[in-house]
Amino acid sequence: MKYNWSIIGHEKQLKQIEQDFASGNVAHAYLLAGPNSIGKFTVAKKMAGILQCEKDFCHECTTCTQVLKGSHIDTTELKGKDSIKIAEMRKVVEKFSRTGQSKYKILLMQSVERMTIPAANSFLKTLEEPSGNTVFIMTTNNIGDVLPTILSRVRTVKFGNVSLKYLQGKMKELYPDSTEDVLRKVALFSMGKTGKALNLMENPDHLVECVEVYNKVQNFLEYRDVVERFSYVSELVEEERVETFCTMLTHVLRAKILQGDGETMRYIKTLSKIHDSAMLLKKNVNKKLVLENLMLAL
Ligand SMILES: [Zn+2]
Repeated sequence: MKYNWSIIGHEKQLKQIEQDFASGNVAHAYLLAGPNSIGKFTVAKKMAGILQCEKDFCHECTTCTQVLKGSHIDTTELKGKDSIKIAEMRKVVEKFSRTGQSKYKILLMQSVERMTIPAANSFLKTLEEPSGNTVFIMTTNNIGDVLPTILSRVRTVKFGNVSLKYLQGKMKELYPDSTEDVLRKVALFSMGKTGKALNLMENPDHLVECVEVYNKVQNFLEYRDVVERFSYVSELVEEERVETFCTMLTHVLRAKILQGDGETMRYIKTLSKIHDSAMLLKKNVNKKLVLENLMLAL
């Protein structure tokens, strides 16, 4: 690697980006696409650092520090979970019509699909005809949700989860004092997501919670105790752990399907039910009801 990315995994994708930069073939717009919590926005920020720094992303100069801290004058960040509305987008468009003071004018936009249609429309012209040395670096967890008008104007780099074995090895390097048991569990429960793995290493409570949910899920798949299931649903809803539960359930079922233990069809059906439930849960419906239905289907 030419640059000091300090990123776990994704070597192929980083090399592809390095090649663009080294050959002077920097695209006006990049879309980093792939699952959540694997470090796409971190990669985006590092790309900005590489482009802005005068010394090949030294991590030490003022420019590097400012980019990484998010306070660089010509590196704008649109980060978060809320939708990006037209008023906010207009400000960005206005900013990008002015001349910058740095090597590049960079926009880092997390989850590009957060843009409302009017916001996306107001952004299109700037995306299509960017002034001078502008680079848009955007991310998405779901490329299917990105408007075709955006997609056709970006260079897409696809990211994936990293392998459990690789992740376990990396965590051991970063946390040499951890026990093998912890490292193995962290790799297992982070499901190939580097951000999640780091979070679990830093927060032992979360790891304990994962182990608990994992055991519950295993138990539910073995024993049909509706009362226990429903009382667990109440707990999950109260403690806002519905997402953790659904993710873990998906994870366990996938592992069971891969092992091929004879009930594959049942597990596949359940997976599709989890998917349906997840869609419903996004729509502000009665969470408890959705989960109880899911529990009955296990
Ligand atoms: Zn620097």
